[in-house]
Amino acid sequence: MTKTLYELGEIPPLGVVPRQMYASVIRRERYGPPRDAFRTEVVDVPSVGRGQVLVMMMAAGVNYNNVWAALGRPLDVIKARQRHGDDTDFHIGGSEGSGVVWAVGDGVEQVRVGDEVVLSGCQWNESAADIRLGADPMTSLTQRVWGYESNFGSFAQFSVVDEYQCHPKPTRLTWAEAACYLLTGATAYRQLCGWDPHTVRPGDPVLIWGGAGGLGSMAIQIVRERGGIPVAVVSSEERGEHCVRLGARGYLLRGDYTHWGRLPDIDDDAASGAWMAEVRRFGKRFWEIVGARRSPRIVLEHSGQDTIPTSMYLCDNAGMVVICGGTTGYHADVDLRFLWMRQKRLQGSHFANTEQCRAITELVAAGRVDPCLSWTGTFEELGHAHQLMRDNAHPAGNMAVLVNAAEDGHTL
Ligand code: NAP
Repeated sequence: MTKTLYELGEIPPLGVVPRQMYASVIRRERYGPPRDAFRTEVVDVPSVGRGQVLVMMMAAGVNYNNVWAALGRPLDVIKARQRHGDDTDFHIGGSEGSGVVWAVGDGVEQVRVGDEVVLSGCQWNESAADIRLGADPMTSLTQRVWGYESNFGSFAQFSVVDEYQCHPKPTRLTWAEAACYLLTGATAYRQLCGWDPHTVRPGDPVLIWGGAGGLGSMAIQIVRERGGIPVAVVSSEERGEHCVRLGARGYLLRGDYTHWGRLPDIDDDAASGAWMAEVRRFGKRFWEIVGARRSPRIVLEHSGQDTIPTSMYLCDNAGMVVICGGTTGYHADVDLRFLWMRQKRLQGSHFANTEQCRAITELVAAGRVDPCLSWTGTFEELGHAHQLMRDNAHPAGNMAVLVNAAEDGHTL
């Protein structure tokens, strides 16, 4: 007889689906510091619909989006779903992970029960009018981040995903390594390779904010693989050395500069002059690292409000600042004179489409990009891991927790 509930790390017979599971749950009354927001609870295993796949999770990646989910801002994810008719009053986060296909719905053709997979973090309606007319699914009106905007993410024993979210798990990776690279890796890949003609070419200098973070660690390696010159910005020598080990030509220490945040009033000559002196000093250091008076053709942004003025100023004529986040705030100032007269591009970018997810997975599978797993925690440490991230006190690279993988092995 099928057990109702299996303990974490206790693997049911292949394809046997219990009625209940352990999940790390956020509730509205617990919104606040991540360390207190996540709590392990028992919930029903979600059912599998047409085109969907039930995955038994072995490990799950930790990302910044569920820091925001725990805080309940800028989006109250539970309330937002309820507004669209969802009746669940809790949030199971997690937008990437590794696991084993445990059941498939009608119409699933590309994966089978027993396949070992890594899961990508966005969902869309493949029948949506915009997608049928040729839109990149990531730009579809139906696109949602799985385990953030949608519920039942990877922080549970079982997750339901759409079939196209499943990618073959690189066999050389452990479960935790496989769980940690796809969200940051594919996002950085789209930023650096997805916005023609501003894709990284051999010899292109590229400025990478937060070079030791999840996005930054992947971005440095992608730029290196394409023959570009990655230059990182970090907050400590230790983080800088991590970037150099990954292939950065060098790094700038952001603590050495003082011009962060919003631009001074345009009529305040003294403050504007001081800002300009500081950003030029920053730019001069960038040239020293590159070894030539060459500005970044691409700037990889995610820090937002504190850094956008610098990114926009430093970016080369006809270059691109490509942004996927706003960790330090959303009201970033752009001096439009530099934008139009120097014909720069400010490009928004959000996660990645299936092709881009597959491209980064192949680079990782081939050993050309390291997943940069720096920390592996237990399921109970999800709150702690997100708190480390919130406090910018996490180790360089990407983090994961083990879900059903009792030890961090390679296969089931
Ligand atoms: P992460 O691992 O925490 O790295 C972020 C890095 O930002 C940190 O290592 C930190 O490095 C740097 N940083 C912190 N405060 C800064 C400041 N005031 N100025 C400049 N840099 C600062 O996070 P991540 O996974 O790379 O994600 C970064 C952001 O991108 C988050 O806001 C996340 O939500 C967003 N994101 C968006 C997508 C998407 O699809 N849209 C995907 C992934 C991530 P130092 O302190 O060493 O400088």
